[in-house]
Amino acid sequence: MKLAVVGTGYVGLVTGTCFAETGNQVVCVDIDARKVEKMKSGIIPIYEPGLEELFLRNIAEGRLSFTTSLAEGIQDAEVIFLALPTPPGEDGSADLKYILGVAKDLGPLLSQYTVIIDKSTVPVGTAEKVRAAIAEHAKVEFDVISNPEFLREGVAVEDFMKPDRVVIGTTSEKAKAAMNRLYAPLVRQGNPIIFMDERSAEMTKYAANAFLAVKITFMNEIANLCEKVGANVDDIRRGIGTDSRIGKRFLFAGIGYGGSCFPKDVQALSKTSSEHAYDFQILDSVMKVNEEQKTRLLPSVLEYFGGDVKGRTIAVWGLAFKPYTDDIREAPALYNIRELLSAGAHIKAYDPEAMENVANLEDLGSRVTFTKDAYSALVDADALMIMTEWPQFRTPDFEKLEARLKNKVIFDGRNVYELEDMQERGYTYYSIGRQKIN
Ligand code: NAD
Repeated sequence: MKLAVVGTGYVGLVTGTCFAETGNQVVCVDIDARKVEKMKSGIIPIYEPGLEELFLRNIAEGRLSFTTSLAEGIQDAEVIFLALPTPPGEDGSADLKYILGVAKDLGPLLSQYTVIIDKSTVPVGTAEKVRAAIAEHAKVEFDVISNPEFLREGVAVEDFMKPDRVVIGTTSEKAKAAMNRLYAPLVRQGNPIIFMDERSAEMTKYAANAFLAVKITFMNEIANLCEKVGANVDDIRRGIGTDSRIGKRFLFAGIGYGGSCFPKDVQALSKTSSEHAYDFQILDSVMKVNEEQKTRLLPSVLEYFGGDVKGRTIAVWGLAFKPYTDDIREAPALYNIRELLSAGAHIKAYDPEAMENVANLEDLGSRVTFTKDAYSALVDADALMIMTEWPQFRTPDFEKLEARLKNKVIFDGRNVYELEDMQERGYTYYSIGRQKIN
């Protein structure tokens, strides 16, 4: 099939590349001219495991191309994906200006029956708004459908190629047939394509993300209580995760969720609720708890340094909001770094993929020292903070650590080490939901 993908970010580029890999002819459209130039010359603009190989192969085989021109990109496309940003607006609701702007431009450009797909996470009722915006100037028949994306950054290619399910919101038989054809190669193992109306599909995405945010936050609250009552959250996790009604995933306590999705989607669902005069109380608690959780280790850092970190150097391992991505949107590491810098500390940071993105931040780029590897960040540092659970931080060479760190103290926001191990090695070790080791 001939496809266009408008918006070539984490979702759009994965969508475009993976559908090219399954044999479609894909043109990706983005307004960021620098990004498009990069992609045209074979440089992938994001880090996503396994994506580069597919990206290069499909460019080389002529199935994947890039343009800044919407008119050129959608020429002859049977299906157009909108994978545009939906950031929070001032009031917390999802800002639809990107989606509706493109929808308006699309109307006069359509030249044949086309299926336009909202792949972005958008509030209930958006498909109707997109349809109205396109209809203003469209001269041909078209369908607007909802097809929310559930991929996780870090394993996006696998999630896209082998989705647990594909959710499609439409009542149009023509659009359903196009979606069945397009997704057939991805659901060969029997994972379902679930058809429903648009509003339910839009709601499904928010329900999934909000549920996961609740699950993480619930576990973080259990962790906070564990610290007070002298229990170990890792044991609680094993104890409850083996219950098949609860499940093993999303039970790891830590310094809160971040990323481009959970924070904004929980906020947007809360806003949708209040617009419909419904007080979705659990969402407000989740947002409040997560906000506090992000900097939960800072009081311990202050306590360790006698209430003052001025002039101290803190090594930070991990900047991305989670491992296997360079995405730093809403990353808890940034909240901690900002607080520490304003308290007068120096920051030496290392992340395998996300340093360039932090270096490009106006308020942090010049104030953080980035190092070439994890151990260099420890040289002359007074303490180590672990903010992202990259696997390489799990089994470091502790001799190298000790040779560099001034004090044997670690503040671990992701519980990457075992308590007994830290005890044996003689560290002062703070983690989440477990007892402090002295
Ligand atoms: P992103 O910010 O990484 O990418 C968006 C892209 O759209 C950027 O490259 C930007 O330049 C481009 N763009 C903006 N305006 C444009 C325009 N008028 N024309 C063409 N291109 C334009 O965003 P993302 O993370 O890919 O998220 C996109 C949507 O998918 C959001 O609604 C998000 O909530 C949702 N989503 C994201 C994930 C994820 O893990 N990132 C997962 C599922 C769903």
